[in-house]
Amino acid sequence: MQHFYFDHNATSPVAQEVLRDLTDAMAEVYGNASSIHHFGQAAKRRLEDARRAVAARLGCTDREIVFTSGGTEADNLAVFGVARRASRSPRHVITSTIEHPAVLNACAQLEREGVEVTWLPAGSGGMVRAEDVRRALRPGTVLISVMHANNETGVLQPVAEIAAMARQANVAFHCDGVQVGGRLPVNLRELGVDLYSVSGHKFGAPKGIGALYVRKGVALAALLHGGHHERDRRAGTENVAGAGALGRAASLDFDWNALASLRDRLERAILSQVPGTRVNGDPDLRVPNTSNIRFEGVEGEAMVIALDLRGYAVSSGSACSSGAVEPSHVLLAMGLTPEEARSSVRFSLGPGNTVEQADGLIEAVVASAAHLRRISPAVLSGSRA
Ligand code: PLP
Repeated sequence: MQHFYFDHNATSPVAQEVLRDLTDAMAEVYGNASSIHHFGQAAKRRLEDARRAVAARLGCTDREIVFTSGGTEADNLAVFGVARRASRSPRHVITSTIEHPAVLNACAQLEREGVEVTWLPAGSGGMVRAEDVRRALRPGTVLISVMHANNETGVLQPVAEIAAMARQANVAFHCDGVQVGGRLPVNLRELGVDLYSVSGHKFGAPKGIGALYVRKGVALAALLHGGHHERDRRAGTENVAGAGALGRAASLDFDWNALASLRDRLERAILSQVPGTRVNGDPDLRVPNTSNIRFEGVEGEAMVIALDLRGYAVSSGSACSSGAVEPSHVLLAMGLTPEEARSSVRFSLGPGNTVEQADGLIEAVVASAAHLRRISPAVLSGSRA
């Protein structure tokens, strides 16, 4: 059986052009970028070309790009880097309850270290309110961290508005751009953020490479201590092949915006052909590749498994911890009940998806929903204990 991939927000395949560059770099460009000999200089050139490509894609200068091991490290470097460097006391950080665990758990750790954290809620549309950020600001605030687009719902956050107020209040603003950077056009200068995380495996580069944009003038404490790599912001021999792949992926011109019509085709068909379905999150303010749909009376996990058996990979936002399926923290933060959150499924599209695949997925969803409701009538009527 053929399998089709509709889970690009979890990770995306490596693009063919990137793969060629990557294997070539691993085989040929093996010098240490800090070495002064021919091999080292070749590695250094590859690294700096990549840095320029990433900077060009994001609308910043190459000196503002720090390569990391991915989105999680970029988020941690931003959150800990700013908070630990700050001299205000008591230190205060503002973030939201819909952030990725890479930010949530970094902020929770700061809280354990004595930093005060304000956790902002999201509205029912899945968006943090800029006004709430403004209200939460206080003299000790050193950092605001709010994501660009949510990984589960795709909902875009009011980043430019928050950036403007952060600048006015002289507070550093970190934005987790992992679901946007490298996919959609972004100009960080115009956006006005101080720090911005991207991750290669979301846009055609491999896992284990990412970058943090650090606006010129923003002071940052390093997480890793060692050599003077990345201008003292991230020690460790540089991942030249990974960085090269990130740069190559950043230069690809696949039009992620073009996915909107495919996403809409899928979503419209599911909403009209499967009774008891609703979109989670504001349908007008989303990235173009994501659709998060609630199937009344159907376990999201059961739907993911049923679709996998039919050859379609999707995901539910739920996390499996200690054997129990926990409802998505994002959907709960938007005001869904645990039951509603557990009955939600995320479809996230990418460059390889076609109309034929989307139509096949629609058929599979319609059949799976009907089947799951037939075998679980108690769940459908809401009478489950
Ligand atoms: N932030 C967001 C919004 C994400 O979606 C992810 C990955 O799913 C991350 C951070 C973590 O990135 P990485 O997997 O590169 O560590």
